[in-house]
Amino acid sequence: MAKRGRKPVYRDISCPSCGSNHVVKNGKVTGRQFYLCRECGRKFVEGAKHRYDRSVRERALRMYANGMSMRAISRVLQVPLGTVFTWIKRYGGKSAQSS
Ligand SMILES: [Zn+2]
Repeated sequence: MAKRGRKPVYRDISCPSCGSNHVVKNGKVTGRQFYLCRECGRKFVEGAKHRYDRSVRERALRMYANGMSMRAISRVLQVPLGTVFTWIKRYGGKSAQSS
């Protein structure tokens, strides 16, 4: 993929569908900023309710760093396995730290 001039990641915005922060701006409609998730392709509006809080994601990553399986994390936090997988795939390497 060629580099583009725009920034691909907006860390304060996360996809309400998969929880990824890998979203790009996708135009404005009636003054509201729309975003497109690069991870799952979902379009959503700024301020859309996230299905999962950032703290839930961080807990999931910490549990994973401490050796829990994705399946176990999914069950404990009641987050779909696919969502846990997305979080770990996307954030597991850098932000999960064992404590
Ligand atoms: Zn998404």
